[in-house]
Amino acid sequence: MPDLSVFSSSYVEARGRFIDAARANGARVYEFRDPREKGPAGEPLCLDVAVAGPENAERVLVAGSGTHGIEGYPGSAAQTAWLLAGGARRLPKKTAMVLFHAHNPWGFAYKARGTEENVDLNRNFIDHGKPYPPNPGYADVHPIVTPESWDDATQAEVFRQLDALRERIGEKAFSTAFNGGQFSHPDGIYFGGQREQWANYAFREAVLKHVSHARHAAIIDFHTGIGPWMEHIYLCFHAEGSPARKRARDWWGERAVNLAGVTHKALADYQGVIIDAFSAMLPKTEVTCVVVEFGTLERKEIQRANMAGRWLRYCGARHPALARKVHEQFCETFYPSDPKWRAAVLEQSREILERGIAGIGR
Ligand SMILES: [Zn+2]
Repeated sequence: MPDLSVFSSSYVEARGRFIDAARANGARVYEFRDPREKGPAGEPLCLDVAVAGPENAERVLVAGSGTHGIEGYPGSAAQTAWLLAGGARRLPKKTAMVLFHAHNPWGFAYKARGTEENVDLNRNFIDHGKPYPPNPGYADVHPIVTPESWDDATQAEVFRQLDALRERIGEKAFSTAFNGGQFSHPDGIYFGGQREQWANYAFREAVLKHVSHARHAAIIDFHTGIGPWMEHIYLCFHAEGSPARKRARDWWGERAVNLAGVTHKALADYQGVIIDAFSAMLPKTEVTCVVVEFGTLERKEIQRANMAGRWLRYCGARHPALARKVHEQFCETFYPSDPKWRAAVLEQSREILERGIAGIGR
């Protein structure tokens, strides 16, 4: 059993462990600090960046955690474990590993999915000066997924109505309506925001500072949720037949591109995701992007948890005892406490990172 002490119970703890591990193992640490928001204990909220290898490396692999707040705990553990295992001392020539710790530090610290403005950071990377991409299907989803109460009967009714909607409009349209991202309902789910979030700004600053010089760059964005228990899945949005998609396949195998293990019958058309922003920011760089999801529960439970997270934010304060219980379940869904699950994350993330380094260093 690997050392599971890298799995933290608070943002302060996770951040401290990450920074200590970086400094003690030959990486340099930089912070991008939110000037306004603080964590639950009054702590500063930062995107921390650890650079292992040359600052001006022509090949840069980024591994990021916490785009969806709560999902940052396993990602942080993977990053810290890689540092503690001496990964920084085994990099190929001209290659740097750049670890982005807590893309959405507010969500990480408060154990929520979104930012301080209920924004899904992974839908926020769009041009806020232009009209927002419409998601007309969400208008039908919104009244279903925003109940005032959160008991068994309510949830059963929510799912009955969602099933009926899916029947009516089909899998693909349903996925896009439900979780593709929407810009019309600020108190809804998968809300992309009506302005750029600080975390969006910080990410782009960090990419400019630590990645934009590279000739070859890649990003692995660590998530949890979708996918079979104790397994991981890849999401790769590079176009069929593109060199980037071929690189992802060469580095991580067929499963990086064939949606192996993905339980969604049809993926949504996503708007404003962070890895697309990474590509768009680096027009002169050869870029390879993947999302890795460490699987926890089936799709229905992930949907339930995301609706619960929304209920907690808007209705939880009126029902404190219930809210505590619902939040515990929410955390367990995206950050399971089972030691076997946590050990699997460490084992699998080590291989994913090693393959990424070998791939970009080739
Ligand atoms: Zn996620």
